[in-house]
Amino acid sequence: MTSMDLYEYQARELFAKHGVPVLGGQIATTPEQAEQVATELLNCGTDLLVVKAQVKTGGRGKAGGVKLARSAAEARQHAEAILGMEIKGHTVRTVLISEGADIDSEFYFSILLDRAERRYLAMCSREGGMEIETLAKERPEALARVAVDPIEGITPEVAARITAEAGFEPGAVADAVAQVIGRLWEVFTAEDATLVEVNPLVLTPSGTVLALDGKVSLDDNASFRHPEHAALKDTSAADPLETRAKEAGLNYVRLTGEVGVLGNGAGLVMSTLDVVAGAGERHGGMRPANFLDLGGGSSAEVMATGLEVVASDPQVRAILVNVFGGITSCDTVANGIVTAVSTLEDFDKPIVVRLDGNNAALGRQILAEAAIDGVTVVDTMDGAADVVTALAEKIGQNAASSEQGA
Ligand code: GDP
Ligand code: MN
Repeated sequence: MTSMDLYEYQARELFAKHGVPVLGGQIATTPEQAEQVATELLNCGTDLLVVKAQVKTGGRGKAGGVKLARSAAEARQHAEAILGMEIKGHTVRTVLISEGADIDSEFYFSILLDRAERRYLAMCSREGGMEIETLAKERPEALARVAVDPIEGITPEVAARITAEAGFEPGAVADAVAQVIGRLWEVFTAEDATLVEVNPLVLTPSGTVLALDGKVSLDDNASFRHPEHAALKDTSAADPLETRAKEAGLNYVRLTGEVGVLGNGAGLVMSTLDVVAGAGERHGGMRPANFLDLGGGSSAEVMATGLEVVASDPQVRAILVNVFGGITSCDTVANGIVTAVSTLEDFDKPIVVRLDGNNAALGRQILAEAAIDGVTVVDTMDGAADVVTALAEKIGQNAASSEQGA
């Protein structure tokens, strides 16, 4: 269900790859770099430049994050002003210096996944430039909405229907827009996007249609098909624990409570969260600190990474491992826990383990024989949730009283 939003410059790179007309440009993180890029673009014969804040939010133009320049010095000044700017809570760390376009008209086009209708939705308007929410509210009749059948896709006929419904008169402009829509559909499908939006799509005085802005969200569920998309990831902004877990192939989501939860299978982990929250009501309101699904084949390494990720979250006081042995039997899981705890440095958070299913008895025996300090085995899920939330509550109280004592 999750997706990854791209920066405009990344969207424009994907556009170019699929033949969507865009203007050239390059990113910069300092005013000096911006000036250098500007000089190169000017040397290539451009006379209009645009300096654009790269943040994952719209409305940059209105916020002063998009500025035209006619010289390298001017581009540098704009970059200086835009870098460090806050736009809707996003700090600008990068600017795009691009060739600028002369604009005759601004249009709007987007294609998105319509989950409720189980198909795609294309939206198009001859009145682009303003934010889509505003357009949809103030001029709904100017925004064409065309359902796109997932099997049929946007064929040239469908693209022509979209432009016609948006009110383009038949002719060269409508044809050029339809052509670009076809290319954008290719971006959408070939890159496994959930959203492709171009606002504005512009018509230049010479009759060319260009994508001047671009917003793309990529479907995370399809990331296995696109190893090249990993490079688009904004690792600096993401939660480092989530990045780490993802790299290890773990499904990890950080929550706000105190009890780390690891399980195998999304359904089991979800119900474990409920049971922990329920037990927590009797123990000082302790709540789950995360969701971590070890997946089907939980080897010792996977268990070690999972435990490490959960334990390195400072809000976690105690950890519950709840596994129903299937293909991965409980003895494998138990050995994984033993290995993990012995290989991880400074592992000092208590772990409560509940094993059931395939080879549960053997798994419990392995843990009993290992007799690791801080590892408790409890036979039922409710019992384990009760023990782990009680531990978390007690650790919190101890921490509070030692703080008072100090
Ligand atoms: P947004 O405000 O975040 O959507 O950023 P956009 O990239 O859409 O830019 C905002 C507005 O700046 C556009 O609607 C245009 O009116 C203007 N703009 C952006 N690029 C250019 C350009 O190359 N030439 C001209 N003349 N205007 C531009
Ligand atoms: Mn825009």
